[in-house]
Amino acid sequence: MTPVAALERVVHCLDRAEQSGFKAKAFVRALDVVRSLPADELEHRAVAGTLTELDGIGDSSAKVIQQALAGGDVAYLIDLEATTGVPITDAGAVYRNALRGDLHLHSRWSDGAATVEQMARTAIDLGHEYIVLTDHSPRLTVAHGLSAERLQQQVAEVARLNEVLAPFRILTGIEVDILEDGTLDHGDDVLSQLDVVVASVHSKLRMPEGPMTERMVRAIENSHVDILGHCTGRMIGKRDPSTFDQDAVLAACAQHRTAVEINCRPERLDPPRAMLRAAIDHGCHFSIDSDAHATGQLEWQPKGCDRAAEVGVPLDRVLNSWPVDVLIRWVAGT
Ligand SMILES: [Zn+2]
Ligand SMILES: [Zn+2]
Repeated sequence: MTPVAALERVVHCLDRAEQSGFKAKAFVRALDVVRSLPADELEHRAVAGTLTELDGIGDSSAKVIQQALAGGDVAYLIDLEATTGVPITDAGAVYRNALRGDLHLHSRWSDGAATVEQMARTAIDLGHEYIVLTDHSPRLTVAHGLSAERLQQQVAEVARLNEVLAPFRILTGIEVDILEDGTLDHGDDVLSQLDVVVASVHSKLRMPEGPMTERMVRAIENSHVDILGHCTGRMIGKRDPSTFDQDAVLAACAQHRTAVEINCRPERLDPPRAMLRAAIDHGCHFSIDSDAHATGQLEWQPKGCDRAAEVGVPLDRVLNSWPVDVLIRWVAGT
C-alpha cells in the first residue's frame, strides 16, 4: 500500500464513522503534504525519522506513512477498519443488499472532498452498479455550484470515466436548488440533458406554510425533477423541519412521479418517520441516498435502510434497487 492510499483509507474510515473533526482534518492535511513531495524525499525522511519536521505531518500520520512504506501492516488502519464500520440491522440489511446504486452524491466539482473517479471507484467497491453525480447548482455559491458551462464540462468528464469504468455507470445529474417561487436554479434546456435531477430547498427554509407548499409543489410538478431531496431541511438537534402541507406535497410527488428521498446523512435522516409513513400511504416512490460529500460517506446508506425497514417502505418502490435501465426509463417517464 502506498502512503497516499493508506492515508486516503484512514480519511475514508474516519468519515464513515462520522469522525470528520480535528483528527480527520490532520490526515487530510498530511495527505496534501505527501502528494506534493517527491517520492524519494518521503522515503529518505521516513528512514531518517524526520517526517514530522514537515509542516502538516504529525506523529500519527508519520507512523502511517512509515508503515505503508515498509510494506507491512499499517496498525492504525487495521484498527480503523475493525472499529469504524457502519452498523445495520438485519431488517435494514435486506434493503441495503437490494440497492444497486446511489442517486445523490457530490464531488470536488462543488463542495465534495473527492474526485468523481474516487467516488465512483468507492461505489464500485461497495457493490454498486451505478451512481448519479449530483453536484450543486449555481445559486449555492458557498458550495461552488455548477453553471451551465461547468456542468457541460462535467458531463464530458463523466463520459470519459464511463469508458474506463464500464460496465459501471455514472449517470449525469444535479442537485438543483428550488428557488423561492418554486422555479429551479437551471432552465429546462440544461435539466433536460441530465439523466437524473434531484431538487432540494437550501434557502428560506422558514417560509410560511402556504408559500412553502406552493414552492415545493411547483418544483415537484416540473417534469425534469425526479427526486425531492431532504424534504424538510431539518438538521437534527439544530434546525426544525420546514413547515408545509405534507399531504399536498406527497400527493404531488405521487402524481408527478417525483421520488421522495430518504436522506441518509446522520444529521438529516430526512424525512422524519411520520412523513415517511405518510409517503408510503400516498403511493410515493423512494430513493435511499447517501448525499455523500466524501468517499467514506458513501457508506451511510445503512442509516436510511434501517429507517426504510422500520416504517416498512415497499422495496419495489425504491428506485435505486432497480437495474439502471429500469431506473432510466422511469425517470424519463416512459
Ligand atoms: Zn442538499
Ligand atoms: Zn446534496
